[in-house]
Amino acid sequence: MPIERNADLKPYHTFGVSARAAALAGFASEAELRALLNEPTLLGLDRLILGGGSNLLFTRDWPGVVLRNDVPGIEVLSEDDERVTVRAGAGTVWHDLVLHTVAQGWGGLENMSLIPGRVGAGPMQNIGAYGTELKDHFDHLEALRISDGEVIRFSKTECRFGYRESFFKREGRDRFVIMRVAFTLNKRPQVNVGYGSIKSELEKRGIASPTIRDVSDAVIAIRSSKLPDFRVLGNAGSFFKNPTVPATEADRIKRILPDLVTFPGEHGTVKLAAGQLIEKAGWKGFRENGYGVHKDQALVLVNHGGATGGQIFDLSTRVLESVRERFGVELEREVNIF
Ligand code: FAD
Ligand code: NAP
Repeated sequence: MPIERNADLKPYHTFGVSARAAALAGFASEAELRALLNEPTLLGLDRLILGGGSNLLFTRDWPGVVLRNDVPGIEVLSEDDERVTVRAGAGTVWHDLVLHTVAQGWGGLENMSLIPGRVGAGPMQNIGAYGTELKDHFDHLEALRISDGEVIRFSKTECRFGYRESFFKREGRDRFVIMRVAFTLNKRPQVNVGYGSIKSELEKRGIASPTIRDVSDAVIAIRSSKLPDFRVLGNAGSFFKNPTVPATEADRIKRILPDLVTFPGEHGTVKLAAGQLIEKAGWKGFRENGYGVHKDQALVLVNHGGATGGQIFDLSTRVLESVRERFGVELEREVNIF
């Protein structure tokens, strides 16, 4: 991809808001990325690494350069009778990787079918869905250090994965470009169907002993029926993270909201469903001008057409404030704001 100046970013992200970048370029290898990092006309500009643009919101024109990760490929690194380690280029579409592994009969990623975006962004927030997180099957990743162009290998521990968290979302942000990600998958897979909606979808289909393909198909069906298609209604998935609170805090909120939904969180905390809190604060289906809160899923802010990123960001602030006021719970944005 040649360097495009004053580039329109609308085709490159899923919220559908208007934004331009001073420059936009793609890279498919370490050599191409290093060349862009050293390109004299781009030196000194802020850099934004882009995948599929499904977890970000542009609230203004980007005054720097957007570098799109197009590193391709899926390859097997090692295998035995039980397991296979497969590595994918960061530019691979995440769902294509999932479908590839499911077709081979390699279990592990099937619950994360149809998550939009590219492989390289997966470790950023340790993507997860329907009871599985990326970290559960992660082997290692390779990331290029921007300061000197060196490629560093990161183990699972070094990535410091947490609930929608990682080293790359915190200290590593703007310092590393994830180039390839490797997963260890199971050739004799055990399916994970503990998540309520998967169980009921499989029951509806009359499947008692599901294969990983059955699970993948079930997840695809649930997601397609429940989540807005960003090609039709701009969005970036869940705008907020599910908050985790101490058990005593959950008890306090239960006194205000007796049907409070809770799940076990990390380190003995209690995970709340942010969608429920937003809905109970009255936002589900809210619509104003071109933006709003999705009618079926209150965690998803939407662009009905013509909204600006700034308007959607302001709406997210109003939602945050009202949940704080009503329940004393501090929501945190999951979407990356630029
Ligand atoms: P982008 O939006 O392009 O980038 C996201 C962030 O990662 C940015 O800060 C960017 O700078 C950085 N980044 C991207 N690539 C790299 C790289 N190679 N190296 C370093 N930094 C990088 N997420 C879930 O976890 N679970 C879900 O179930 C889920 N469902 C979704 C449903 C819908 C309808 C939508 C629109 C989104 C959903 N998401 C979900 C959010 C999103 O799909 C994921 O976070 C996904 O991993 C983002 O990938 P992307 O390539 O689009 O990243
Ligand atoms: P849902 O099934 O209506 O459940 C609401 C929330 O309760 C979810 O956020 C989920 O937390 C939690 N939950 C439900 N059952 C659970 C269980 N058995 N164990 C632990 N936690 C449970 O959620 P949904 O909105 O339709 O989403 C379904 C799945 O897709 C969720 O895993 C969600 O994270 C994922 N998703 C993510 C995004 C995103 O952008 N991040 C967008 C759409 C869907 P968790 O979120 O921790 O799983």
